[in-house]
Parts: sequence; structure tokens; C-alpha cells
Amino acid sequence: MLDRVAIPMLWGGVELVLFLSIAKFKRKTSVISDIIFFLFISYMCIRSFRTTNDIGLTPRTNYSRLKSNTFSFTSFLGRTLPYELFNLSDVPPYIKPTPQANAPKIKNIIFIVGESLTANHAHVFGYSRRTTPFLDQMAKNPNAIVKPSYSTGLFTAISLPAFFNAIPHPNGMKQIDSGNTNLFKLAKQQNFITNYHSSQPEWQMEILGLMGRRWIDNVTFPTEKGISAYEGMNDHKLLPYLEKTNLSNGQHFLVLHQRGSHMPYGKYLTEEEKIFKGNTPLDNYDSTVYNTDLLIKKVWEYLQKQPNDDWVLIYTSDHGQNVSDKVYNQGTNVGASYNVPVFIYTPNAALIETIKRQFEQCKKMIHHQVATLILNTLGYDMPISDCKNGVINSGMLSGDEGYLKISDHKVEKVYPK
Ligand SMILES: [Zn+2]
Repeated sequence: MLDRVAIPMLWGGVELVLFLSIAKFKRKTSVISDIIFFLFISYMCIRSFRTTNDIGLTPRTNYSRLKSNTFSFTSFLGRTLPYELFNLSDVPPYIKPTPQANAPKIKNIIFIVGESLTANHAHVFGYSRRTTPFLDQMAKNPNAIVKPSYSTGLFTAISLPAFFNAIPHPNGMKQIDSGNTNLFKLAKQQNFITNYHSSQPEWQMEILGLMGRRWIDNVTFPTEKGISAYEGMNDHKLLPYLEKTNLSNGQHFLVLHQRGSHMPYGKYLTEEEKIFKGNTPLDNYDSTVYNTDLLIKKVWEYLQKQPNDDWVLIYTSDHGQNVSDKVYNQGTNVGASYNVPVFIYTPNAALIETIKRQFEQCKKMIHHQVATLILNTLGYDMPISDCKNGVINSGMLSGDEGYLKISDHKVEKVYPK
């Protein structure tokens, strides 16, 4: 490990000497500075305690080290610790043991995780523009299901951690910590090789820690191609990561994580790829939907060439987006913010049978069904949830700032207090 840790350790040593030298030489202390310092830390702790978002939950690597650590430390002191010690949350914690494991139902799970793609802009669900020619065709295929679904959350940072830990309702931090139902951990326990390839900027993906990074064998970001940690990349560049994987050798749980339809829309598309001309946010957004459909098609075509029928391809988006010729935003309580597509295809006769039986009666799915389907496919004895009741996380993972409750396809905002 020496070649990896030597430089950070040396730098740490230099910093330590620097700070010790201050303590040694600057004997004169100022009471006013101390008071300002403690007032500032107290203010930051109170701010964390009263926060309505999860920004302090994971460090932000684009901040300076001082700023990033101040946020994390005061969030821990002001939020995590009191909530933990005095059980301040109004939502009961979600805790579930690891389900019983049996033989996996398939050898390869290829999961495309979309970004900000609302089902409201998918032609296959009735949108006027032809944004999804591939899904249009797949909707008629007997080995596929194409359905709209409620997303796990309204933002990436709360949707993906809850999804990848198969958490059906708010306040699952303890569950996330335990990893008992983490998709990557449970895949590894079944001897799957776990891969996560993302076209998102690396600095925005610190949440991967909450998604189970420690159980992923191979993680890549655009930085691997020499791109800055602050930049994402064109999603079609994810395809080679799949092509490099030998699916005939061992079992694989491989995630391709798109930049997709993230704002600013179409930033990583070439001019040819922007098939809806006009360059308005709406045109560019629809072009990103078209390109996601194209990516799914490319992955599907590649998998079709595999010699065996031991794979399943799943696509869904983390949350939606509200885009028209007048407004564009995300995170609000309108349907476009949480309506997302779900596409599942497998050539495996037994598995498609199970999937159809589970989902055929659902006119609209709930993301948790997809998460439990993955656990089920990995061989775990976890029932696939129904499409009647569920939750869309909004604001905070704890649910203390309210969340959207789905009951019988009606969505309403509820507050725990
Ligand atoms: Zn997102």
C-alpha cells in the first residue's frame, strides 16, 4: 500500500508539524477569537439540527477541506448525535435482517440507472414526440415489461441510497448502516462480481458511500478517462465497460449509471445527438430522453449476442423532472418529478414468467418492487412488494421533513408530526 498512502501521510505529517508549531510559538491567545470560534461552531450545529435537507450527510469534495470538514463535523454534532442519543425522529426506523439466501435465479444482472428522466416525456407512455423508439418496440415484446413507476425519491441523493438498500419507507439510515438489504452486499454474498460505472461527475457521487461502495469490486467515474472530477461524460461512453466484462465467466451485478437528463439538459450530447433541434431546454431535454432510449437499445443489442440466456436487463431513472416550454425544475410534488419508466427484459423463460406474474396487474409500479425483484433474482427470500402502497422520499431520508405517501395510486404529502 505504501505507494498509495505515502504522499497523503507525508502531507499529514507536514500539516501536523505546522499546527504544532502554532501552538508552540503563538503563546498569546485571544479570548475574543475563541468566543467567535465557538459561536460559529454552535451556529453551524444549530443550523444542522434545523436543516430540511441532507447536504451535510456526505462530505462535499468540491469544498475546501476546512469547509467540507466543518459541514460534516457540525452535521454530526448537531444532527446525527442528538437524533441518535435522544431518539428525536418522528418516523420509526426501518430495520430488517438479511433475508435467507437460496440459489440465484440468473447469472448476470445488468442495471442501467437513469438520471432525471420522467415517464411524462416518454413516447411509449403517450408523450407526443417520438422520444423512445426502442421502448415503443419493446412494449410489444413478450420477454419485456415497460411500465411507468413511482420513484424512490425526488432527488438523486435520497433516491439512490434508499433504492440500493431496498428501503420501502423513510428513516432507513440504520438499515443503510447495517447493509442488511444492500443490493451490492447481498450480491457479493452470492459470489456476484459487483461493478459500478458512472458518467456522473465524481465529486457529486459521494453518496455512493450510502449506496454500498464498500461492497463494489470496481467503481469508475469519468475521472478514469482523465476527465476532471467536476465533469460528467456522454452516457454512450459507458458501453465499453459492459463490453469489457466477460459475462460467460462467473456471475455479475453490473450497474451503468447515466448522467442522462441531468440539468443543464444535453450538456454532454453532441450536436448530432441533439435530435430535437431548437436548442430550448425542452428540445434538449427530449434529446436526452431519446439518447437514453438509444443507450438501452445498444446495451440490449449487445446482450442479445451473448451465447446464453442467463441475463436480465433493467432500466429505471432515479427520479423525474418537470419540463415544459415554460418551466423546468425538479424536486417539486408534481407527477413529472416522480413518474419514471421501468424497463425489464430477459430471454430467460422462467424469470420472465415470475416478472410478468408480479407486475402485469400493476398499471403503475413502485420502485421498491424493482429493488426487491433484484434481491429476489439474486436468490434472496425477500417477497417482491406490491404496487398499492409505497413512499416517495422528499427532502430528507429520515422523513422528518415530510414525504409523499402512495396509497392506491393517490399521492399525498404527509408530515410525521
Ligand atoms: Zn438524479
